Amino acid sequence: EEKQDVGGYFSSYNDLSVHQLMLKDRPRTLAYRKFFETNREAVKDKVVLDIGAGTGILSLFAAAAGAKKVYAVEASDVAFLCKEIVEENSMDEIIEVIHSPVEKIELPTKVDIIVSEWMGFYLLHESMLDSVIVARDKFLCSGGIMAPSHATIRMAPVDMTEHFQDRADEWSNIYGFDFSPVASAINRNEVVQPLVECLCPDVLRSEPKELLNLDLRTVTLEEVKKFTTSLEFCVPLETKIHGFACWFDVDFNVKVSEAKNDHESLMNFPSSISVNEKGDAKCDGLCSTNTTARSPIKQLEEAVSLRTGPKDPPTHWKQTVIFLPQTIAVGAGTNLTCRVTMSQDIGRNKRHYNITVALTNGTEEEEEEEDDSEDEGA
Ligand code: SAH
Repeated sequence: EEKQDVGGYFSSYNDLSVHQLMLKDRPRTLAYRKFFETNREAVKDKVVLDIGAGTGILSLFAAAAGAKKVYAVEASDVAFLCKEIVEENSMDEIIEVIHSPVEKIELPTKVDIIVSEWMGFYLLHESMLDSVIVARDKFLCSGGIMAPSHATIRMAPVDMTEHFQDRADEWSNIYGFDFSPVASAINRNEVVQPLVECLCPDVLRSEPKELLNLDLRTVTLEEVKKFTTSLEFCVPLETKIHGFACWFDVDFNVKVSEAKNDHESLMNFPSSISVNEKGDAKCDGLCSTNTTARSPIKQLEEAVSLRTGPKDPPTHWKQTVIFLPQTIAVGAGTNLTCRVTMSQDIGRNKRHYNITVALTNGTEEEEEEEDDSEDEGA
């Protein structure tokens, strides 16, 4: 266990303030609660795996929504507290707390639903998604539900003039002395380590574009280890661009949601699922989905999502700003093109990503490697 705890990752979650921060993040926590509340039918009598249970809040939501059994797997010592909370709420018949990295557990059955709050800054920081993918492939029954089911990283160019002005002002007069070299030093460091801040929406200089879109039911380790995306931003007005802001959304879709009629919904079921005369879809063993072939649409109408952009209610993830080494001046109506690469820092710590943004307009190529290796994850 110690070997796997690279950089004290699990032990960082022994810190209760981290869990307080997450529990108090209402948009975050309420999105998960809403998923369980609006999908009671799909949760009732099912087996749920909560990956990284923390204090157990998601397991409690699952149990309250009627799950038959919940495995609450938590690698850090918060697992002890989780067990107490589960007992305090008389849920210990349903929720079983397992103090272990999910990679090391065995379960007596496959699970119908995997729930996890694995998202880090700019979605992928901490690389906890890797653990979720491995556990999904090992434990999720065919046709099982992933909550969340989809994740998207969005990106937009930003004008951070005010941010730099505020900083310059702050350091211009320190007990009567000019400390502006400190402001410059902080600015230089920001190019290496991204800024995590709640941005005012008016710093965005173009409509955001999708940097990455993941279907969590099928995504592979390879796909999140490294990816490159080319983006084109239409900048309507003349502006300075200091860098790019990223944030993410996750969606909670229960499968067969796109089905338009009985015929189509049946076509979409995996081959291992059979449908009985009442229209109940069933796949072998423990995985029986209550999502009937006749009523998938009603149940899934209410899409649940968690959004963390500058225009959304603030969350503890805020937004992440990747700065360019130099400010660029952009004319009105410019199509700003860039190539973005994110790759796990395998050599040093795979829980950190290196982010590269290459501007590809014209002949000149500016390139800068951004290293967030000192980010503390939440
Ligand atoms: N589910 C809780 C906590 C989310 S934070 C909530 O919503 O409030 C993520 C948690 O996952 C942390 O407590 C961390 O210790 C745990 N974790 C991360 N990787 C894990 C792994 N591979 N196995 C088990 N737990 C893990």
